[in-house]
Amino acid sequence: MNPFQYRRAADIAGAIQAITPGCKFLAGGTNLIDLMKNGVEKPSALIDLNRVALAAIEPLPGGGLRLGAMARNSDTANHPAVRQQYPLLSQAILSGASPQLRNLATNGGNLLQRTRCPYFMDIGFPQCNKRAPGTGCGAIGGLHRTHAIFGASDQCIAVHPSDMCVALAALEATIRVGSRSGERQIPIADFHRLPGSTPEIDTNLQPDELILSIDLPPSPYAGHSQYLKVRDRASYEFALVSVAAALEFSGGSIRSARIVLGGVAHKPWRATTAEQVLAGKVPATALFEAAGEEAVAGAKPYRQNAFKVNLARRAVARALAEAGGVA
Ligand code: SF4
Repeated sequence: MNPFQYRRAADIAGAIQAITPGCKFLAGGTNLIDLMKNGVEKPSALIDLNRVALAAIEPLPGGGLRLGAMARNSDTANHPAVRQQYPLLSQAILSGASPQLRNLATNGGNLLQRTRCPYFMDIGFPQCNKRAPGTGCGAIGGLHRTHAIFGASDQCIAVHPSDMCVALAALEATIRVGSRSGERQIPIADFHRLPGSTPEIDTNLQPDELILSIDLPPSPYAGHSQYLKVRDRASYEFALVSVAAALEFSGGSIRSARIVLGGVAHKPWRATTAEQVLAGKVPATALFEAAGEEAVAGAKPYRQNAFKVNLARRAVARALAEAGGVA
């Protein structure tokens, strides 16, 4: 592990003032410390946020819920307001990692967790544009069974590993960040990036910004939502494909829908045209299968992960059926 400075922040202002080039914030450390031990991350300094008062989960004026950036994933998933108003989010968080990791991992850290592409995680592999820009992509010509089928580039085909973020995308959360210039809100859809020609940059968070909270608008989807995660083993595994599905009903018809896929792209992948297939229709198995077809239109699999297209199609149909109560 490289030498680094350690700074403990007492409050938000102190944390922001402590930012220097090459530093990283330390929250739960469940991803960052592993990457530092592996030599993937080499921050010049760690700014410890664990004494900063950013863990509150509280109602927003006018409706909705604010999730503090330092609230632990377990506390968020088990909070009564989250369970009642945003069960999709609770379900997604509880499908990830292990109880021990969720007890330590924070909401802000979950947003910023990095890909588990094996070529990125192991510095023994020389080719990885994300870890070492300009070196190539080991996965494209190598092992890529778990990699992207949407939004990839010839520079990187990695996927974002978070379950929480898939649900946040379906709930249209916004990320509140602070810097020496003040605060700004970033819609979750604009927070994570596609790899393009700069796969080393995961998000649109700026180096001088600190995540303060995740803000959830009021949701009409609490009664009809489902997070479905398909993976190689039943627990402690990342998604091959996941689906956050949510339906709003008006009478017997679907008024609006949200469909977001995880494990298939460098960011949570919203299937907007598939959502439109459902609007105004009466829920039925054939309708949900049609939405699944639409959700995978435009998928571009690689040699080893073509199975993900069919998996995603079927997972969308099943998640919608479970959300709509016709499974
Ligand atoms: Fe690196 Fe991305 Fe290629 Fe994986 S897919 S080896 S993270 S450039």
